Amino acid sequence: MKEMTCIVCPVGCHLSVDDALKVTGNRCPRGERYGIDEMTQPKRMLTSTVRTLFSHHPRLSVKSRTALPKGMIFEAISVLDSIIIDKNVKIGDVIVSNIMNTGVDMIATSELSIDTLNGRSK
Ligand code: SF4
Repeated sequence: MKEMTCIVCPVGCHLSVDDALKVTGNRCPRGERYGIDEMTQPKRMLTSTVRTLFSHHPRLSVKSRTALPKGMIFEAISVLDSIIIDKNVKIGDVIVSNIMNTGVDMIATSELSIDTLNGRSK
């Protein structure tokens, strides 16, 4: 039996998952899925930043479009460490496609406009 808190929504149900993967304590089916996934293939969203070439905006915030396998998070951060942004970016632009063949894209959560940074009009 394993105890955990469901983090799928703000309610934060207290879950119990037994060795047969029977989930109790969940108020909705998403909690059952979360409990089973935590026991068999835990995943996490990844939020981070990547470097840019621009001193006015040296880091650009990014996140995974969906959750990544928990065991691959540190490797994904290493991949992001190798990225350097050198062009305009809009929120939602793909920064790393299919990171580590997980099928998950890393996308921008902030905007970078080189023209604005340089004080030029577009
Ligand atoms: S079980 Fe359902 S209601 Fe409870 S925290 Fe998870 S998603 Fe929210």
